[in-house]
Amino acid sequence: MKCPVCGDDCVQDAHELIEQQATIFAPCPRCKGRTLNKQKPPADMAIARPCECNKRFIDDVFSHMYAIMVEEGVLSSADPLHAVGMPLVHPGFAMMQPPYLPPRSLVLLSPNVTKPCANRLFAEVPEVRGVIKSNEAVPGLSDIDFDGIPDTYTLLAGCDVRANIFATQNEKVVIYKQQSVMHIEFPRGYDPKIIWVGTRVRQVRPKIFVDACAGPGTLGIIAGLYDIPHVILNDAWYAAAFWSAFNLRVNREHLNFEELRMHATYDEMRARPVLKTPEKIAETQGGTQYFEVYQGDCHELYTVLPKDVDLSVIDLFEKKDTEKVNAFMEAWKARVGGEVFIP
Ligand SMILES: [Zn+2]
Ligand SMILES: [Zn+2]
Repeated sequence: MKCPVCGDDCVQDAHELIEQQATIFAPCPRCKGRTLNKQKPPADMAIARPCECNKRFIDDVFSHMYAIMVEEGVLSSADPLHAVGMPLVHPGFAMMQPPYLPPRSLVLLSPNVTKPCANRLFAEVPEVRGVIKSNEAVPGLSDIDFDGIPDTYTLLAGCDVRANIFATQNEKVVIYKQQSVMHIEFPRGYDPKIIWVGTRVRQVRPKIFVDACAGPGTLGIIAGLYDIPHVILNDAWYAAAFWSAFNLRVNREHLNFEELRMHATYDEMRARPVLKTPEKIAETQGGTQYFEVYQGDCHELYTVLPKDVDLSVIDLFEKKDTEKVNAFMEAWKARVGGEVFIP
């Protein structure tokens, strides 16, 4: 599948990633990895080359990136190894052992990295998929009132589209996102939100399910695994709405529709990053399930919803502001009806 960020075919169908999951980060019998102390500078700048199987232990990859960052003046040789940055592997899932990384499987987040250094990391370290300059903020929409444009990080080199694999009781879903514009998640192998969505769907058996603040679509797609006839996903942030639609397509083997039609491109959506009035950006055709994806403010979503919604999940980013959350839930119950829950 063509990637909307880099234009290459760096995205795969769900089953391809799920089939590789058991082996993708496992060493071959010849792989040798050095476990390094992350709290100290590496003892030497020797660079261990990837094994003949093309994988290299994550600490050796870090040590290689460290050497380049010192040469580029981004780090000093007194900095500890962990100062290289935060690694996000592709695909991400709960792991028992640190990974042996195949080519293009690591997105690096660093607050200090410069453009020339990022270019070198991407060109010289085969495991690097993309380099992001991060900052203090959490990328993506974080405020229920949607005042202003959300914070983002900056992609400096390569591609920062990567996937996480989430497990339900019975199946797995693959959730892609562009990492510099959406918040970071770590699949833990046991995700209470995912379990809770499955439980509520089995209890209510909805005909129409709404995921009002869908992010990259995880909960709406999980609900879709339960053969709900009509599922509506929505997010005000362009990247979330886009990746919700994209992830429906990625996981289509486990859902019952024939085709997903996009009504807007990633670039068109990026040009109007936050929408208040909901606009349908994608829908499915054929099969026994109908999925719609909207980009819009969840406060306004009721204006486009059908009358008989029976179950809604509201996964608000700012759950701590109880007053706002309660007001939102009350308004939702009055305007939309059906059962509604916060996961
Ligand atoms: Zn890409
Ligand atoms: Zn090997």
